[in-house]
Amino acid sequence: MTLEQTLPICVAGTWRLGGGERYATSYPATGEPVAWLNAASLDDVEAAVQGAHQAFLHSGWAQRKPHERAAVLYRIAGLIRERAEELAQLQRQDNGKPINETRALVASAAGTFQFFAAACETLEETITPSRGDFVSMSVYEPMGVVAAITPWNSPIASEAQKVAPALAGGNAVVIKPAEITPLLALQLAQICEDAGLPKGLISVLPGKGSLLGDALTRHPLVKRVSFTGGTRTGKHIAHIAADKMMPVSLELGGKSPTIVLDDADLDHAVAGVLYGIFSSSGEACIAGSRLFVARALYEPFMARLTAAAAQLRVGDPADERTQMGPLISAGHRESVERYVALGLAEGGRLRLGGERLSGGAFDKGYFYPPTILEGLGNHQQVCQEEIFGPVLVALPFDSEEELLQQANDSLYALAAGIWSRDYKRAWALGRKLQAGTVWINTYKQFSISTPFGGWRDSGLGREKGRLGILQYMEQKSLYWGMNDQPLAWAGVEATQ
Ligand code: NAD
Repeated sequence: MTLEQTLPICVAGTWRLGGGERYATSYPATGEPVAWLNAASLDDVEAAVQGAHQAFLHSGWAQRKPHERAAVLYRIAGLIRERAEELAQLQRQDNGKPINETRALVASAAGTFQFFAAACETLEETITPSRGDFVSMSVYEPMGVVAAITPWNSPIASEAQKVAPALAGGNAVVIKPAEITPLLALQLAQICEDAGLPKGLISVLPGKGSLLGDALTRHPLVKRVSFTGGTRTGKHIAHIAADKMMPVSLELGGKSPTIVLDDADLDHAVAGVLYGIFSSSGEACIAGSRLFVARALYEPFMARLTAAAAQLRVGDPADERTQMGPLISAGHRESVERYVALGLAEGGRLRLGGERLSGGAFDKGYFYPPTILEGLGNHQQVCQEEIFGPVLVALPFDSEEELLQQANDSLYALAAGIWSRDYKRAWALGRKLQAGTVWINTYKQFSISTPFGGWRDSGLGREKGRLGILQYMEQKSLYWGMNDQPLAWAGVEATQ
């Protein structure tokens, strides 16, 4: 890939220039272009969906035995691993995450394909207890064309979580990656083809979501949308889906509470809270962005946390020691800055950070330091809205009752963290917290075998887990008559 080239996009197995505007993706650490490509056009959406539908009907993929589909998914996992370093470096350039993080995302994508290959070949259909002279069964069928719409913050890992189970289920997939981070989805499509996936079963349509994602969601041949992104976009998609009676899964935003009880192991809690909010520069749906600390511990804990946060290494994403890279774009950094200004206007105080980094390499990229705000109430806007940046709001609490009320007082309910040495206390609190995922004495740890998703404005449906494959399949009940007599109701006697 050279900078002068315009990258082709993948439209139902044909690699060609998109029909939309030419644009560059840029490296957030320098603002310099990484690659040029043409966005997809509405005609490309139509061609991708029609091609996917034809491939679904005629490629034989849907009819392959599960272990045969699994063999292709295992090969995809293998090719991702073979190309891991190249993919991680490209991902670093595409979205500016530190190299250690992009390596982990690539490894996670390979693991996801491996997991869903195994889930595919071991998925069981059931014979249900019969209540008559028939055998009754519950089986699963592929849906057809599935759309995977993904955000910019974890490319390849997000796409893998949708593409792997959708392909395992026998479907065709059209990916609409975030406009600003399309490169890894294109690589993934190439890898799928190299692994022997029949052409047409995967397409990648980079460009504007309001145009392409919308058209894809509305398309009558698209039978399911799996979306990860902002809550507002998710609700828009849900409305379209309601009109089509189409199932959707929505992985949306968060404002997750992370709670330090007065008996917490402080070394663990400091490390966990730091990682929870500042890794990925806070550009994570599950970021632990609301910190609740027992009042008795508040000052000593905040002093340690602030000192440790001030030591985080912000800078060059290519440097293996870097813990925080730049934010994704100039516009997003401005949005983070507006939230910090709002927090101050709401009466908050800065404990750390709060001003963009400058000088040297910081002048070119979109860097923002770890920032801690305090002196605010949970009801205030910066405590209620997702900032999606390295901004932590810290609040002391007096009783567990008050804590629980505040922690659950959010439109979002994606994740939560608890730090305590008392396992019974942590268990009781963990069961009362309203969130799709609760971490106890750890944070932001994931396993592909464990379901993930949000409550309320954080989403609908679950990804991951062995049964994640079923969201890309339609359930069907089969009754198979075993009676050698005609059905009695009609009064027809068997002739022999
Ligand atoms: P976004 O909602 O702006 O965009 C997400 C995707 O939707 C992009 O591909 C975009 O082009 C597309 N899109 C935009 N408008 C659309 C429309 N009208 N119809 C169809 N598609 C459309 O989100 P973003 O800014 O890319 O990502 C950040 C958000 O994603 C944050 O809110 C974050 O919390 C959320 N997120 C959630 C999870 C999760 O698993 N819960 C994971 C990562 C990110």
